[in-house]
Amino acid sequence: MFSPLIDKLISALRVLPGVGPKSAQRMALQLLEHQREGAARLAQALVAALDAVDRCKSCRTLSEDDECSICRNPRRDASQLCIVESPADVLAIEQAASFSGKYFVLLGRLSPIDGLGPKEIGMDILERRLQEDEVKEVIIATNPTVEGEATSHYIADLAKSRSIKVSRIAHGVPLGGELEYLDGGTLAHALSSRREL
Ligand SMILES: [Zn+2]
Repeated sequence: MFSPLIDKLISALRVLPGVGPKSAQRMALQLLEHQREGAARLAQALVAALDAVDRCKSCRTLSEDDECSICRNPRRDASQLCIVESPADVLAIEQAASFSGKYFVLLGRLSPIDGLGPKEIGMDILERRLQEDEVKEVIIATNPTVEGEATSHYIADLAKSRSIKVSRIAHGVPLGGELEYLDGGTLAHALSSRREL
């Protein structure tokens, strides 16, 4: 409909969550018409972030360092490992709950239909950590969805086979609710009233 480069920009913008064809078109035209400096900053920031940000080698969260700041922090309690689905969940727990342990970020959940098996969600790295580290309790904070529960069972088996205590956070949340959208109080309560599996 527009010239090829504008069309290309519009379809590129549609990778953003919640952006359909109409809003992608509006964004593209806004950037090109009125926000050329901002658009250049956006392009540079994207390229720089894509180039430098990768997964933390210990917990798989997104980090521009080889190992993220939480994993490197010697004051964090390495005996507690909280397992979450996404970097946004780490942020939510950090902001809401007084959790002083460390994290492991799955970057997904077991979903064989989508081709997400144990390896894709880092189970080999987690196994290594459970073997080498001084983890005494694994706290599973995956979302209460079907895939989240399946993932939880898988991890619980993994930890129990190494005689590590396993608990699952309580969910005062609507079924299928995503952790990152919980309010701080609910999340803090869910973590403190976790139950042993
Ligand atoms: Zn890390």
